[in-house]
Amino acid sequence: MTDPIYLDNNASTPLDPRVRQRLLEALDAGPGNPSSSHSKGQQLSSLIQRAREQVADLVGGGAGSTVFTSGATEANNLATMGLVEGNLTPRRRILMFAAEHASVLNVGRHLGHTGTAKVDVIRATSDGLIDLESLDELLADDVLVVSVMAANSETGVVNPIGDVVEAARRVGAFVHCDATQAIGRIPFHMSEFGVDLVTLSSHKIYGPQGVGALSISSQVRRHMVPIVHGGGHETGLRSGTENAAGIAAFGHAAELAGTEGIEDMARVAPLLEHLTASLQLAADGVVNGEDAPRLSNTANIWFAGADADAVLANMPTIAASSGSACSSGAPEPSPVLLAMGQDRTRASEAIRFSLGRYTTPEEVDRALPQIVSAVSRVRELSSRQ
Ligand code: PMP
Repeated sequence: MTDPIYLDNNASTPLDPRVRQRLLEALDAGPGNPSSSHSKGQQLSSLIQRAREQVADLVGGGAGSTVFTSGATEANNLATMGLVEGNLTPRRRILMFAAEHASVLNVGRHLGHTGTAKVDVIRATSDGLIDLESLDELLADDVLVVSVMAANSETGVVNPIGDVVEAARRVGAFVHCDATQAIGRIPFHMSEFGVDLVTLSSHKIYGPQGVGALSISSQVRRHMVPIVHGGGHETGLRSGTENAAGIAAFGHAAELAGTEGIEDMARVAPLLEHLTASLQLAADGVVNGEDAPRLSNTANIWFAGADADAVLANMPTIAASSGSACSSGAPEPSPVLLAMGQDRTRASEAIRFSLGRYTTPEEVDRALPQIVSAVSRVRELSSRQ
C-alpha cells in the first residue's frame, strides 16, 4: 500500500532527514553514560549540553532552566504536579483552561481527587479561545498557577498568552504554558511573555518521538520537586539516564525550528487557505474557531451530517485526524469541541487537517477530491439510515 497523503502534522511531524542524521551520529557516539566521568560519558554529556542551549534559544529561556523529559505529556505532568507538590507558598488553587491537552487536564483531575490542590477550569469561548472574563472571575490570591496552552492542537487557535500573564501577575500567580503546538510555528519567547513554565515536544518540530522539555524560570525552580525520583539527573528534577541521542536530535530540530519554522508556516499558509476554501465550497465545510487567530497550518473543519470517523475510514489514502478520544472502546467526541460549547453530534463531525514542512501543493490538490467524495459518501449513507 502506498503511503497516505500526510495531513496530520499536529499529531506528529515527520523526522527531518538532517535531524535523523544527528540522531544516528549521536547513537554512534556511545557506548557511555552521560553521567560517567570518562571521555565517552563526557562526549554524550556535551551533546546534551549543546541541545539544552539549542532548546533554550528556541523557547527564550536560560539554558540552565531546561529539563529534558520523555515528551510534552511528562513535561505537563512535571509542571503542575512538581509545582503543586513543591509549593512553598500558602496558595492551593490551580486554574486550567478547558481546552487543554489531556496531559494537563488529567493531572488537574488527579490533584483534585487526591485533595492535593483545588482545581478550577477556565471556560473556552465558542471560537476556542480562553475566555478572559472567566479567567478574571477565577483569579484570586490563593491561585498558585494558571495553565494555558499557546496553541490548540485540534483547532490551531492561538491564545493571548500576554493577556493571561498580565492577569495572573495581578494576583501573583505563576503561568504554565503548553507551547507544544506553537513553538517553531509562531513567535514565542518565554521571557518576553513572562511565562514561568513552558512545555515543548520534539516530535512536533520534526524531531524524534519520546523526547520533550520543560523550561522553568528561576523564580519557579525553587518551588519544584521531581515527579520521577532516582539518581538526581537534570538538576534533580528528572532522574534517569538521559536519552542522549534523542535529546541531541531534539536540540538540532529546535535549532532548525528557530531558523526555518516561521518560513515553513508562511509557505503552508496559502496551501491551507486553498484546502479550507475548497472544502467550504465543495463540501459545505465550516471552520471551527474561524474568527479566532489560528496557526496557519491547521484547519478543523465541521462537515455537518458526516461522522468524522466514518469519513476518515472512507479516505484511507489521507492521513488526518478526528480528534475523538477512545475511552473503553467507545469513541468520544472531541473534548476540545465540547469545551467550545458544541453538542456531541457536531463535535463528532469535525476533521483536523494539519500541514507541515513537507506538504506540497500537489498533495493538497490530490487530497481535495478524495476528501469531498468521502464526505458526500458518508452523508449519503447516513441520510439513508
Ligand atoms: N500537549 C499538546 C498541546 C499536544 O498537542 C501534545 C501531543 N498531541 C501533547 C501535549 C503531548 O505530547 P507528547 O506526545 O510529546 O507527550
